[in-house]
Amino acid sequence: MRALSPEAIRLDSKCERFEQDGAAGTVRVQLADGSMHEGRALIGADGVHSAVRRQLFGDGAASYSGCMAWRGVIPVEKLPAHLVRPVGTNWVGPGRHVIHYPLRGGKLMNFVGIVETQRWMAESWTQRGTHEECHADFEGWHDDVHSLIAYIDVPYRWALMARPPLPHWTQGRVALLGDACHPTLPFLAQGAVMAIEDGFVLGRALAEVEGVPQALQRYEAARIGRTSEIVRKSTENGRRFHNPALADAEGAAAYVDREWSRERIAERYEWLFRYRVDEVDL
Ligand SMILES: Cc1cc2nc3c(=O)[nH]c(=O)nc-3n(C[C@H](O)[C@H](O)[C@H](O)COP(=O)(O)OP(=O)(O)OC[C@H]3O[C@@H](n4cnc5c(N)ncnc54)[C@H](O)[C@@H]3O)c2cc1C
Repeated sequence: MRALSPEAIRLDSKCERFEQDGAAGTVRVQLADGSMHEGRALIGADGVHSAVRRQLFGDGAASYSGCMAWRGVIPVEKLPAHLVRPVGTNWVGPGRHVIHYPLRGGKLMNFVGIVETQRWMAESWTQRGTHEECHADFEGWHDDVHSLIAYIDVPYRWALMARPPLPHWTQGRVALLGDACHPTLPFLAQGAVMAIEDGFVLGRALAEVEGVPQALQRYEAARIGRTSEIVRKSTENGRRFHNPALADAEGAAAYVDREWSRERIAERYEWLFRYRVDEVDL
């Protein structure tokens, strides 16, 4: 992008507010340093605490979802050989679950451990935790889970934030994208995927539809059904992963046989992975 226009990307630029001028067909953005910048459209891709969303809809701060995540990476050479596999692995149990998968060409293992808890301190939504706290949150879980925790470089605690779905995310020449408009619990692993899909469809709409406000409306219309469904089904998957039926071995075996049968998995994931950003109707 910088090859096309050296000024196209400005880092360390915090958007404070914007104003639209319908007659002139422009949007002006004020940055934290007081400077004003004008363009034909504003896309608020500024995450779950979006300032653009706040100005558009005034719907206050995101709230704590009741789940926190332990996150960390592990150099794979530290792990027992049987844990170093090129697949994602999901451990499920009452009120919590763990997922781990290789990163960076298999050099690192990513660890995410989700815990339902109200113990979260609201003022900080991400902070460093300790290995002891993380082990304690998975007390009684399989030794493999504890091996992973033991070798995490730095265990971080993340509060998972939630917001009710928006019925619209476009006004005139301003639209939202990604977590700014449809933050989700990460239980279908689709938050970043949705942001990338939004970007592709938005690009198509701006290229194919006459007029910026019309293009933004068509982008929203093309995306809102799918993203709302993903947010809803992610929450539903949390109930599945954390189900009380998983508390004892017998109940767990029957529950896993049913919920992770080939048919049930196809029902849950086929529609997700068959979506085509380049074919969706605008
Ligand atoms: C524990 C956990 C596990 C996850 N696992 C997955 C997964 O497996 N797969 C997946 O697809 N997704 C996953 N996600 C979700 C994914 O991380 C998010 O959905 C994704 O990062 C959203 O991208 P975004 O660009 O919309 O927002 P962000 O990544 O939050 O980026 C927003 C950017 O805007 C900037 N910004 C904020 N305010 C302003 C402002 N006022 N002015 C200018 N810039 C601003 C921020 O600095 C940031 O750079 C997970 C999330 C969590 C918490």
